[in-house]
Amino acid sequence: MNLQYEIIRSARKSIGITVERDRRVVVRAPHQASDQSVSAAVASRRFWIWQKLRDPNKYPDPLPAKEYVTGETFLYLGQPYTLVLTDGNRGTLKLAGEQFEVTLVDRDRGKELFKAWYLGQARACLNPRIATLAAEMGIGYRRICVRELRYRWASCTPGGTLSFNWRIVQAPMIVVDYLIVHELAHVREPNHSPEFWNLVAVHAPSWASARDWLKQNGSWLEW
Ligand SMILES: [Zn+2]
Repeated sequence: MNLQYEIIRSARKSIGITVERDRRVVVRAPHQASDQSVSAAVASRRFWIWQKLRDPNKYPDPLPAKEYVTGETFLYLGQPYTLVLTDGNRGTLKLAGEQFEVTLVDRDRGKELFKAWYLGQARACLNPRIATLAAEMGIGYRRICVRELRYRWASCTPGGTLSFNWRIVQAPMIVVDYLIVHELAHVREPNHSPEFWNLVAVHAPSWASARDWLKQNGSWLEW
């Protein structure tokens, strides 16, 4: 791991390390601390830093912002599709074959069009899938809410309201299924207990690959 970090020196007495929401590693050190003692402190906490950097609830690495230009890639259910700007009047975004089409005049509201499109797809895709998996698991829920969530892919309340981030429909279906099963399992098992993971493993057999996919690619879903 080639670890980049920022050093902030101040009148403090000891060296402190934090991993910020945007995954910057910040080392706060006393004025008199040598560079060597700072790097030794970082080295001694490498594993802890590594774990923090992989926390899926952290903000991802800053990605280059989408520009909504021809050739840019957008994911849908794990497949990459190329954006093509087309001539014509203001219209809506559409997925045609291998590509997303947006009219040139709509380029300045590309983000808004994509978000609205994904939100619509997420609602259409998630609601029936949740109903199917809930029936298979014999677990009930009160309400489903598909919306923009900060920091999380999905969550559930003790009252049985399941919330899903619309961004998850960019991921492959095994990831979507895993996230649904994960939240449904929480209705019965609030903690990540062995019983919880047994339940997840039965109903989302690919849960481990799904979780790895999210760890490795999750940041690409945030834009
Ligand atoms: Zn959980």
